[in-house]
Amino acid sequence: MSLARSIILKSSALKPVESIVRKSFLFKPLVTRFIAGDTLEESIKESEAILKNGQRITLDYLGENTHSEAEALASCKIYADMLDRINQVDHVQNWQQNQVGKEPLNISIKLTQCGLDQGTEFAEANYRKVVEHAAQHHNFVRIDMESSAYTERTVDIVSRVFTEFPNTGTVLQSYLHRNDDDVDFMIEKGIRTRLVKGAYLEPATVAFPEKSKVDEQYVAQAKRLLKSGNYPAIATQDDKIIKELCNFVESNQIDKAGFEFQMLLGIRRDLQNSLVKDGYNVRIYVPYGDQWYPYFTRRLAERPANAFFIIKNLFKN
Ligand SMILES: Cc1cc2nc3c(=O)[nH]c(=O)nc-3n(C[C@H](O)[C@H](O)[C@H](O)COP(=O)(O)OP(=O)(O)OC[C@H]3O[C@@H](n4cnc5c(N)ncnc54)[C@H](O)[C@@H]3O)c2cc1C
Repeated sequence: MSLARSIILKSSALKPVESIVRKSFLFKPLVTRFIAGDTLEESIKESEAILKNGQRITLDYLGENTHSEAEALASCKIYADMLDRINQVDHVQNWQQNQVGKEPLNISIKLTQCGLDQGTEFAEANYRKVVEHAAQHHNFVRIDMESSAYTERTVDIVSRVFTEFPNTGTVLQSYLHRNDDDVDFMIEKGIRTRLVKGAYLEPATVAFPEKSKVDEQYVAQAKRLLKSGNYPAIATQDDKIIKELCNFVESNQIDKAGFEFQMLLGIRRDLQNSLVKDGYNVRIYVPYGDQWYPYFTRRLAERPANAFFIIKNLFKN
């Protein structure tokens, strides 16, 4: 992990830094670039524009690590409301529901938001209810992957719920040493997997610190998922890697309908559009809600130049 990335992730956890970032107008343009708004309606409005542009959406209600069972239950109620509201969107109404993976709008949620810190069984029961609700709408629920403290439990919980409800899947992070085994596991079970490089601050004992090694792992694991996975999602903004994987798809005659690229709202829109033009499925991760701070700082850490530009201007004023 680069030093700059590590500094941003560590310092953003300090309360005074959070207070400055939340209050300063200098951060506002970046916040609004990465986050669709505070409300579900704002995120639906943003999503409708993206759908018209030929891309699909996964909607994320921002927030993580609930502090009480009541908080977790309130988050799960919001997930159910999201699924109900999504079901009213024109593109969803017109969608042929038997097309696996092609749901125009699905949701991405976090197990710590379902109450994982309050208990594994509690969180699993809450998550199961959300997936059951999604199944009634023929929709899909993705469990985002959080820090390595949760990886094992996330893989276990998702694979248990999947045996009952195949309309769910999760995310694997290529920076983790364990990830080769997890990729094998997801392929064997047929669980829909989104592959990412990984966004959390992790020690070298669990994650590769060198970017080149993470990139190498990512490419090899993406190729395996593209060949043998169940509708994998290749989630990256790395244009070199995307190019290499598109060449791999062409030369191995892999069906473009059998997987999707995923990218974050506000990052590399040019690349998102050119992939659609080339006939690839592209899904945009659209986060909304007022709990945007942790998500936002992970985005800053991925591109330290953004953060340092703003900090320089903070001290000029
Ligand atoms: C759809 C989606 C879902 C994700 N879900 C998870 C998850 O559940 N768990 C998890 O740990 N991580 C998740 N991530 C984040 C992921 O782990 C990476 O941190 C993030 O995608 C940046 O890595 P990269 O693959 O784009 O490659 P990088 O090598 O970081 O970036 C490649 C290029 O992309 C552009 N870029 C990347 N990030 C930014 C940015 N923030 N601002 C501006 N330009 C940027 C730059 O041009 C950069 O050179 C998700 C990412 C995506 C796209």
